[in-house]
Amino acid sequence: MTHPRLESSGPVIVVGAGIVGASITYHLARAGTAVTLVDAGQPGRGVTASSFAWIGASGVRTGPAAALRRTATAEYHRLERELPGLPVTWSGSLSWSRTGQAPEAGSGQEIIDDARVAVLEPALQRVPEWAVWAPGDGAVDPVGVTGRLVEGARDHGAQVLRDIPVSAVRCDGQGRVTGIETATGFLPGSTVVLAAGVATAALAAPLGVRVPVEPSPATLCRFRAPADLVRTVVSNDDFDLRQVAPDRLIAAADSPERALAAVRSTFRDAADVELVGTSVGARPMPADGEPIVGPVAQVPGLYLAVLHSAVTLAAAVGRLVAQEVLDGVAAPLLAGCRLERF
Ligand SMILES: Cc1cc2nc3c(=O)[nH]c(=O)nc-3n(C[C@H](O)[C@H](O)[C@H](O)COP(=O)(O)OP(=O)(O)OC[C@H]3O[C@@H](n4cnc5c(N)ncnc54)[C@H](O)[C@@H]3O)c2cc1C
Repeated sequence: MTHPRLESSGPVIVVGAGIVGASITYHLARAGTAVTLVDAGQPGRGVTASSFAWIGASGVRTGPAAALRRTATAEYHRLERELPGLPVTWSGSLSWSRTGQAPEAGSGQEIIDDARVAVLEPALQRVPEWAVWAPGDGAVDPVGVTGRLVEGARDHGAQVLRDIPVSAVRCDGQGRVTGIETATGFLPGSTVVLAAGVATAALAAPLGVRVPVEPSPATLCRFRAPADLVRTVVSNDDFDLRQVAPDRLIAAADSPERALAAVRSTFRDAADVELVGTSVGARPMPADGEPIVGPVAQVPGLYLAVLHSAVTLAAAVGRLVAQEVLDGVAAPLLAGCRLERF
């Protein structure tokens, strides 16, 4: 299907160098497009820096973006081949809950018993009776991946502007995008991709475009911990937890204190685990939780890419957005992600 309103000629500007904007810029540049990436700060220092950064394509069953989500890890394997040294770890994930029966395994998952759980996580002192094992899941260093994408984009000729806030998207008399207004002046471009996370709504609003996305705060905890305490991505009622360095764990959790207590009681030899820091990130959360990705019908040349679970989906979304912007052909995998659904 051809998308009648995509503006594919002329320079492309991507606003926002989080993992989403960096991936879109990389894929555009790799395809040979003249593209400029602009960020108010440094790449990857928005909510991306506070992400737990679990990448999982397993168990996805329903939702308008289900087919897109199922491609997430395969797209990261592709990106690893294109960008050697991409900081991705393929550890698999183990999930369980204190209450309820084991669920039915979804695609890419199996239900395993306590004996297998104990092999996968040998330091557990309270081994659950069952867990969902997703061997294909992994995690990334989100700032590292963003940096590598930006570097890859530059290698392919992209221009990267840091510490330059964008104040407005400009249009001509016909309502067609002509560029952006920045703290250092006007920058022309026939296509502007807004990948500014929670700031996307405020940049689109003056054009009469309502993007229903709200900041959704979530806390990342950092712990000092013994080497090799946790081997997979562990998810249960208390935390999402993984080891990021020989002496470091990170967790996404509602309460740092409760997460610390839970880590100490869940693993052996963990009494000395210490909380060394927390950060709260504002996740860009669309009103229905699903990605908002695609061209804006009433403003030719304007394109949106704002989503939660954006670390998981960045490799896939970056490639598909670049393809849509360049070819003007709507990608079926993004069909459930359009702004028009609201
Ligand atoms: C605790 C926590 C755990 C999470 N766990 C996971 C997980 O396990 N898996 C997963 O997939 N996701 C997870 N997420 C969500 C994930 O981090 C986000 O979905 C993702 O980082 C969003 O990326 P982004 O590029 O859209 O936004 P951002 O990283 O916020 O990037 C937006 C960029 O736009 C720039 N910008 C904003 N306004 C302007 C302007 N006016 N001019 C120029 N630049 C501008 C900002 O400086 C920023 O760099 C988690 C988030 C948190 C907080």
